[in-house]
Amino acid sequence: MMETWQAILADSIVSHEQLARRLPGLDPHLAEVIARYPLRINPYYLKLIEEHGAPLAKQAIPDIAELRDPVGLIDPLAEEDLTVAPNLIHKYPDHALLLVHHQCAMYCRFCTRKRKVGSAAMAVPAQGFDATFDYLAAHPNIREVLLSGGDPLLLPDDILDHILARLRQISSIEVIRIGSRVPCTLPMRVTNQLVGILRRHHPLYINTHFNHPAELTEEAGRACQLLADGGIPLGCQTVLLKGVNDKSEILKKLFLGLLRLRVKPYYLFQTDLTAGTNHFRVRTSEGLAIMRQLYGHISGMAVPTFALDAPGGKGKIPLTPGYVTEYGDTLRFTSYRGEACSYPEPDAL
Ligand SMILES: *Cc1c(COP(=O)(O)O)cnc(C)c1O
Repeated sequence: MMETWQAILADSIVSHEQLARRLPGLDPHLAEVIARYPLRINPYYLKLIEEHGAPLAKQAIPDIAELRDPVGLIDPLAEEDLTVAPNLIHKYPDHALLLVHHQCAMYCRFCTRKRKVGSAAMAVPAQGFDATFDYLAAHPNIREVLLSGGDPLLLPDDILDHILARLRQISSIEVIRIGSRVPCTLPMRVTNQLVGILRRHHPLYINTHFNHPAELTEEAGRACQLLADGGIPLGCQTVLLKGVNDKSEILKKLFLGLLRLRVKPYYLFQTDLTAGTNHFRVRTSEGLAIMRQLYGHISGMAVPTFALDAPGGKGKIPLTPGYVTEYGDTLRFTSYRGEACSYPEPDAL
């Protein structure tokens, strides 16, 4: 019989001792990192690490640099200040973010919510989400609710179903979006039963999170296929990470591979200024240079928006290579091939 996703997850590496058994010679100081930031590498992702090495290992295996970050902030996106009801972060006028679960199938070392992921500080409040649902009902300008965490798809089916049903009782909420790394890090969690639940709450979108083409396995492909066949539009939020995917050839392969799985690359994120993640940051100029290698060179469907989530909760800022060389009655710009072009503006009046 196939192992259940719960059994696979229960078999994860969560301690320094367990990790050292798999990786002899592991730095003993990493125990301090793990005491500060949680560790979880499940057997599925561990196997990928063993097959593909550094680009996947860096995402999952703690690094002493996490404790030696000179610039990072505990809460760079000011999420605590923007929290308006239990676990509800309201930053934009028409959509809000609800943290419904504190656990993940793997704890990414570059996590933006490193300050609290995997900990009780993020757990569902004891009194539940009643006050949160009341807030959403009282703010009909909120058209879309994003579920994140932690990973919403690690919730038991019945609890997830209950949360989605409660959201659906609020008529002003048009769209539900779930952010989940499960299709990448624990694809066996995507079962027929789960898809059956999700599709009862349409329009429901899922934005998943793949960072490297080696993550596009047969299992991940099957998970995406189940979701897409359930009528769930799929997007991907990739993070630009030093030593993982900071090369245009890697990202091209990733984005084209995602498109084949019916996953639309949505965002490529500049790493947030989260404490403990400085060693993953790449200069924005390098990100822009990578974007130049994408626009026009591969299908526009495969090109995400490169974005920076502004410190202080100021919102996402799209970063686009500068194609325009001159604004005026004639717009002058360069093509993706570097040719000088122009476009006459209509008469101003
Ligand atoms: C990123 C984010 C969103 C979603 O932004 P989109 O551009 O719509 O994907 C919503 N709320 C918060 C607090 C966020 O950080």
